[in-house]
Amino acid sequence: MLDNNCIFCKIIKGEIPSAKVYEDEKMLVFKDIQPKAKVHLLAIAKNHFPYLDGMDGEQTELIAYMLKKIPQIAKENGCENGYRLIINQGESAGQTVFHVHIHIMGGEILPW
Ligand code: 5GP
Ligand code: ZN
Repeated sequence: MLDNNCIFCKIIKGEIPSAKVYEDEKMLVFKDIQPKAKVHLLAIAKNHFPYLDGMDGEQTELIAYMLKKIPQIAKENGCENGYRLIINQGESAGQTVFHVHIHIMGGEILPW
């Protein structure tokens, strides 16, 4: 299910343009509009849910599916030497888009 008011759902539907690097029937990966690393991608499921908290079984499987796909996608997009995955959850973490997304960051040495 998608949410009409969610910007990432609009990106999935093509109502907002994005620089897509990977897409299949379950997930989409596109470039972050304000990159905070040389390579900064966002992986999203084609299913709207705002938090890891409260996921149903299908949503949990989608997260596992994305984690299985990400290594190859990262390698093909400039992260041959490693990458960092981040999932911001809630206000203190600075979450601004409430459609669960995995930040994929790399392409350079990342300070911790
Ligand atoms: P959060 O802080 O919620 O974990 O991350 C949301 C991310 O989405 C931010 O890094 C922000 O730059 C990115 N973002 C927000 N709106 C858009 C958009 O319309 N297009 C793209 N490509 N990225 C977006
Ligand atoms: Zn959404």
